Amino acid sequence: MFTRYAGSPEGGLVNVVAIGAHPDDVELGCGATLLRHVARGDEVTILVMTAGQRGLLEGMSRPKEQQAAAALLGVQLRWGGFDDGAVPDGAEAITVIDDVLAATSAEILYTHAVEDTHQDHRATATASLAAARRLPTVLQFETPSSQHFEPTVYVDVADTIAEKLTALRAHLSQVLRLGPVELEAIEAQARFRGFQGRVRWAEAFETTRLAWDLATPSEASAARTLTMAASC
Ligand SMILES: [Zn+2]
Repeated sequence: MFTRYAGSPEGGLVNVVAIGAHPDDVELGCGATLLRHVARGDEVTILVMTAGQRGLLEGMSRPKEQQAAAALLGVQLRWGGFDDGAVPDGAEAITVIDDVLAATSAEILYTHAVEDTHQDHRATATASLAAARRLPTVLQFETPSSQHFEPTVYVDVADTIAEKLTALRAHLSQVLRLGPVELEAIEAQARFRGFQGRVRWAEAFETTRLAWDLATPSEASAARTLTMAASC
């Protein structure tokens, strides 16, 4: 049976997982979209494959920054436990992702786009797509090191772009390095993607699969009530 909006054990509408190679990748790529998921009652988990040890500044903790950012987004946080710079793309990583997708009953997955100059981003994308073999919706986000990124899906993030920038500021070590977390550029990118997507502010995605659910909110909530009643 094709069941949608099954509802999470915690009572969310849809279960969403977003995977990033390093602390800050998920916020950069789809932070404002995740905030929209949270705002409508979805259950969102982010999986960060490494602790970002190679991008560390003296006296600062990237795991703590990631925890703060996750709290600002209102999402659950899990760690992959791999070494920064050496994320595998085979069975070891796929098993870790499989476990998170199963534990969260994920229906929607966000991950890196495959074409990226950073080896950890490429490996995370490859492993994610393999692990997501049964998921109906898989969208891939851009990072500052993406290449040949050609989005087809645009999410209107007018309501959440400011909160996204706030969450990114939690990654203070990366803001201070003046590297990928360049807040002015990230804001300009969202404005440009909005221009492309015919809205004002957007995050943009490449698509592996998109099961477009046209249920009305009342249908979705009725289906959820039935599913929850059946599982009691
Ligand atoms: Zn990264």
